[in-house]
Amino acid sequence: MNFCSNCGSDKISLEVPEGDSFKRFVCKNCGTVHYQNPRVIVGCLATYEDKILICKRNIEPRFGLWNLPAGFMENGEKAEDGAIRETFEESNANVEIIKLHVVFSIPHVNQVYLHFLGKIKEPSFKATPESAEVRLFTREEIPWNKIAFHSTAFALEKFIEFGPDYPGVHIGSYLK
Ligand SMILES: [Zn+2]
Repeated sequence: MNFCSNCGSDKISLEVPEGDSFKRFVCKNCGTVHYQNPRVIVGCLATYEDKILICKRNIEPRFGLWNLPAGFMENGEKAEDGAIRETFEESNANVEIIKLHVVFSIPHVNQVYLHFLGKIKEPSFKATPESAEVRLFTREEIPWNKIAFHSTAFALEKFIEFGPDYPGVHIGSYLK
């Protein structure tokens, strides 16, 4: 951080504020402490009958690989609504959320994934600017060697291992 977003000063210091235990960017002009915290990514493992909706990425990173619909949560949005929105943006499918499925942390890039389980009532979906292809996969058809992100692999693995009626939430992480 070079300039204070509150007062515009360049007198920014990286230090542990009094009473805190982490280093923060502190403006020495106006005193503002600029907290930086992880970003939340919301996504959905949506099923139709026994099949799972997966999208082929049409954007970087991991262009051309398969991923569950997911994206950054917006300010002012509920997590489950973000998952519904991202699913529609990436696949044009209208999903109904059932439950929270996975909490997946990636500390070295400051990201937390929340993957929900969802259902689509109609097999209605299509390619979008973000997805070159959208399709339903049976468990046997999942392209394990072409999955884009660890979070998606984890969500798929736990779904297959424990099924859709598992009462809890699966907690995982990817550590560099
Ligand atoms: Zn300032």
